[in-house]
Amino acid sequence: MPDALLTTAHEELRRRVRDVRDRVMVPFLQRRGWERPLSGDELKTLLRMTVPLGYPGAVVAKADGGAGLDYLSLGVLVEELAPVLGFVAAHVVPRQIALLGSPAQKRRYLPALLAVERLSTTAITEPGVGSDAGAIAMTARRAGARYVLDGTKTWLTIGTIAEVATVLVSTDPAAGPRGLSRLIVDLDHARLASTTFTTLGDRLLPFAQVRFEGYEVPIENRLGEEGEGLRTTLRAIQASRASMATHAVGIAQAAIDAAVAYAKERRQFGRPIGSFQLVQGMVADMIAETEAARLLANRVWAMLDRGEDCAREASIAKFYATEAALRVTSKAIQIHGAYGVSDRYPVERLFRDARMLTFPDGTSEIHRLLVGRAALGLDAFR
Ligand SMILES: Cc1cc2nc3c(=O)[nH]c(=O)nc-3n(C[C@H](O)[C@H](O)[C@H](O)COP(=O)(O)OP(=O)(O)OC[C@H]3O[C@@H](n4cnc5c(N)ncnc54)[C@H](O)[C@@H]3O)c2cc1C
Repeated sequence: MPDALLTTAHEELRRRVRDVRDRVMVPFLQRRGWERPLSGDELKTLLRMTVPLGYPGAVVAKADGGAGLDYLSLGVLVEELAPVLGFVAAHVVPRQIALLGSPAQKRRYLPALLAVERLSTTAITEPGVGSDAGAIAMTARRAGARYVLDGTKTWLTIGTIAEVATVLVSTDPAAGPRGLSRLIVDLDHARLASTTFTTLGDRLLPFAQVRFEGYEVPIENRLGEEGEGLRTTLRAIQASRASMATHAVGIAQAAIDAAVAYAKERRQFGRPIGSFQLVQGMVADMIAETEAARLLANRVWAMLDRGEDCAREASIAKFYATEAALRVTSKAIQIHGAYGVSDRYPVERLFRDARMLTFPDGTSEIHRLLVGRAALGLDAFR
């Protein structure tokens, strides 16, 4: 459904993304199945299908090898890819490097990431450090021209197949949150010990815990200054939060489309179930919540396009949209009756994938506290 912030160019991009998604990506995934993790080669094959659309370098400037699109276009790409791929975060590391990297870092990393010759992820979370990112325990000790990394990162999306990660480390443990730095790390899996999680949703993606022991990284791989890791992470995170919100909108919209089709075709009491008022009520609630979530997410993309601070708006969009997707996908299952919890229809997978989204890039609770702090001027964290 068009909204006031989107132009005909955005809608034309949406049409092209849907065409590639439905014509080549969905058949690829249907052939190999949705329930086991993609190999690196499989994920690269899928993501390369999106390169002609401008992904994953949508908002990376043309001068840096990206597509030079606006953030609203990135939103369109994320919304349309999310119901089938899940790994819409492919844009995150290239965007971070384009935003925060030195000219040499951009030259070294962006071409392969933008062409999807290499896969990337972000590494912040640790076994003992989730929401409180300022408490990072993984250390990076200087040894001549290198940092030596020791510690464990966890929940890395595509952690066993990513070849590059931006990693938040402590370069000065005595300084606490002011001693954190962000490094670009080449992941040589032969020298890393990894274990994977079996997850409720997003089963195409290997989520991993990765142990770094005496792992050397050149000092020139630091993104920004020493001690600025938390600040630079927060600078790039608003677009990631908008992306999570839009990801949820994409899943919710796919659930609506499936539920509407089913409600028109399934007959009970001699009529399509969609003619019953209680079913129409569910459909109307699903549509209202999804459109509200889309507007909230697109407001953030538009603010990013205007270069405005959107921390509060990104938090509202993130927690509202991800929770709305849970309610919407659950109603979509209800409309499908018992078939809704079977794998004959896509809605159970969409529900499981939606359940993954209220944690990454800040949990719902953390975002409520951020919005509350902005409203009240009172900080719940300290
Ligand atoms: C699908 C998915 C992808 C992910 N991808 C990545 C990735 O690529 N890289 C990465 O580094 N991490 C990733 N993560 C991890 C994610 O960033 C963490 O799950 C998140 O930061 C929360 O940390 P936690 O799960 O340890 O929960 P905790 O911080 O331990 O929180 C547990 C519960 O307590 C609540 N809570 C915590 N503090 C407060 C508070 N002050 N007030 C009220 N409630 C509070 C939380 O909201 C939550 O409900 C991913 C997670 C998921 C599910």
